[in-house]
Amino acid sequence: MEIVMLGTGYAMAENCYNTCFTLVNEEEVLLVDAGGGNQIFQQLASAKIPYQNIKAMFITHAHTDHILGAIWMIRKLAALIHKKSYAAPFHIYCHDQAADALLQICRLTLPAKFIREFGETIILHTVEEGDKALAAGMELTFFDIHSTKLKQFGFQAILPDGRKLACLGDEPYNPECRRFVEHSDWLLCEAFCRYEDRETFHPYEKHHSTVRDAGTIANKLGVKNLLLYHTEEKSLSTRKERYTAEAQSVFGGNVFVPDDLERIKL
Ligand SMILES: [Zn+2]
Repeated sequence: MEIVMLGTGYAMAENCYNTCFTLVNEEEVLLVDAGGGNQIFQQLASAKIPYQNIKAMFITHAHTDHILGAIWMIRKLAALIHKKSYAAPFHIYCHDQAADALLQICRLTLPAKFIREFGETIILHTVEEGDKALAAGMELTFFDIHSTKLKQFGFQAILPDGRKLACLGDEPYNPECRRFVEHSDWLLCEAFCRYEDRETFHPYEKHHSTVRDAGTIANKLGVKNLLLYHTEEKSLSTRKERYTAEAQSVFGGNVFVPDDLERIKL
């Protein structure tokens, strides 16, 4: 299994793509969020991930930087299905509010022939906390991250070898999610900037956390590997080194601060 980061930036990033990634199990791929536009196509092409392998997509929430790329994915896969170049079905998982937003945007912006694929070849699963799904050889369990801004879900994935991965979406950890996150082998967590740079980037006003906050949580929860994403983009050339150093000052496990298109073996 590997994770391929398609984007690592926050919503307004111009120098990298919005945070989204794939979990790849040989030929089977789960896409998690799709960034804010049709740059998702370029990211998938650069990562050499064929559309045919993407069998499922999970959308954390309906903010622009996560859901608009999903509209493009639906358009692309519906077109491929029409050309008989994709083996349907394509499964989409998200909570009710994200499902509503997705369907509304699709109805307003996509040709009717593609909308007709919903329920036929494109299956939209509205999930609630605790619901499970199988994707790319993993068992996923979805959970509410208790966002203060907009309803958002994360997920726990049991990898094919039994190890656990938790994705917290793009907001700070809430203790109500403890049972889905504690003792994870992998924790995917947002970190808007370093604690040291909090006066420059104001993460707390944006309901985001710092690298030090994420590291502290990971340490407390007994996580083995911490992957940080959804960051500011003013420090991309030094981000990996500086973020890693700050996280390691409070967390004893492995720290990963990937660049766009980086692949990490799980
Ligand atoms: Zn975001």
